Amino acid sequence: MPTVNDKSIEGIVQKEDPVLRAKAVEVPIEEIQSPRITKIIEKMQKVLVAQSDGVALAAPQIGESLCIVVISGKVYLDPEDMDSYTDTSKDIICINPKLIKSSKERENMPEGCLSVRWLYGKVKRSKKATITAYDREGKKFTLSGKGLLAQIFQHEIDHLNGALFVDTATDLEVIDPIEEKRKRKEKRALKK
Ligand code: ZN
Repeated sequence: MPTVNDKSIEGIVQKEDPVLRAKAVEVPIEEIQSPRITKIIEKMQKVLVAQSDGVALAAPQIGESLCIVVISGKVYLDPEDMDSYTDTSKDIICINPKLIKSSKERENMPEGCLSVRWLYGKVKRSKKATITAYDREGKKFTLSGKGLLAQIFQHEIDHLNGALFVDTATDLEVIDPIEEKRKRKEKRALKK
């Protein structure tokens, strides 16, 4: 089993790596559709979809200090269907995302990070948030979210600023993923 000290787990850099602490660089608009950026986005999607509990990924997490975030299309699914998700066509690609609005109303939300295995904790997040970003065609869009989506916006933009959820989290604990999976399966079986 991978440990917290592993340098990279399945292509995802882990918290000791300085790239996670750097301020990510914006992608020049004219380069959004370049082969280099396209390749990075595709790699991010591939790495993300391989993580059954992964809902989003920032480019620094694959070692690229660039302002790119991929949000998995699975965020719109029932959490119980997330494990078997393989469709990357619905991923939301956010290039140079900016948080333009976040609600004053905040709540403690349970949180983990693909770069901080296997710690989990609670982070105070705005309940609602709005971002602007560019899509992979270079078109600017605005997206508002609440709950999980709002939390993702805040967590991922923190990554682009070199922040990790453990910097501000409370009630941190290590959760064994194999044990958790077993529990989830058990729960699912009971529901049937
Ligand atoms: Zn993260």
